[in-house]
Amino acid sequence: MSDTCFDRICIVGIGLIGSSLARAIADRGIANTIVIADSDASNLARAKILSLGDQYHEDVRLAVKDCDLVILCVPVGIMGVVAAEMKSELKEGAIITDVGSVKESVLKALLPHIPDTVHLVPGHPVAGTEKSGPDAGLKDLFVDRWAILTPPEATDQTAIQKLKDFWQALGSKVELMDAKHHDLVLAITSHVPHLIAYNIVGTASDLEEVTKSEVIKYSAGGFRDFTRIAASDPTMWRDVFLGNKEAVLEMLGRFSEDLTALQRAIRWDDADGLFELFSRTREIRSRIIDAGQDSDRVDFGRPHGED
Ligand code: NAP
Repeated sequence: MSDTCFDRICIVGIGLIGSSLARAIADRGIANTIVIADSDASNLARAKILSLGDQYHEDVRLAVKDCDLVILCVPVGIMGVVAAEMKSELKEGAIITDVGSVKESVLKALLPHIPDTVHLVPGHPVAGTEKSGPDAGLKDLFVDRWAILTPPEATDQTAIQKLKDFWQALGSKVELMDAKHHDLVLAITSHVPHLIAYNIVGTASDLEEVTKSEVIKYSAGGFRDFTRIAASDPTMWRDVFLGNKEAVLEMLGRFSEDLTALQRAIRWDDADGLFELFSRTREIRSRIIDAGQDSDRVDFGRPHGED
């Protein structure tokens, strides 16, 4: 084991992100022991069949005992409840982190339950898919993706460095950020796009003039790409919107103003305005590909099993 690693790592919540972490940690030999906790007995049984860890517990208090790193991979709305349950059993000097998609409300929920003897370093891997559960995990999910850490002021620097080393060992690039700023950035890059996808798929399913079978039949016109995002986990996303209310509403306000401007451009045949905007957005796409955050492979619909 190199000095970037931990002896015992506990993963709480063995869903998409938890099971991707378990697979990545095992694949890279980052821990001697992986302990898995999940409140759902069937998820735990499935994790065991998939050999995702070394020990399995429904009771989070038994799971976190003697662990050097505890990673909370549960929906953001439940983080505080889980922290309250496990706090009395945390090992002195342990690092507690999470993978929640929202950071300010999670920090508020966790802080009251973090003993002085442990280090809290919240985090968010900006990687994922629309799938859930222990079968959905991928061992390379975090490779070349950003892991954002949002440690509160006065967090122990050694603990921050250990967690940075951990994410880098999984292949991620690491950035430190203030929790509030994280929530604003993710509101526009992730949360509002998900809301738009949920909305457009919802609108299409409510239409009366166009039948549902027509919507499905002709979905390759663009709708299909929204349906992938709109198939994301309902619990996770309910919690994200309620946990990042302020930033999402702020970005949604900006989005609505720009949408009104687009409506006006179409109504008044503003061809130059439309062309100028669509050229700018095409440029953003090129920059995302140049930054290695997507491939420019032509996408006619992905074959099964490809991410
Ligand atoms: P997921 O696949 O639904 O996994 C969550 C797991 O936690 C499930 O097994 C769930 O069991 C379990 N769980 C729920 N309450 C629990 C409790 N009190 N104690 C122990 N386990 C509990 O969700 P996910 O996509 O991995 O998301 C997990 C976290 O990662 C969320 O905070 C999310 O914001 C964050 N995240 C997600 C993505 C993404 O793309 N999905 C990306 C980055 C970060 P049940 O199935 O029975 O509820």
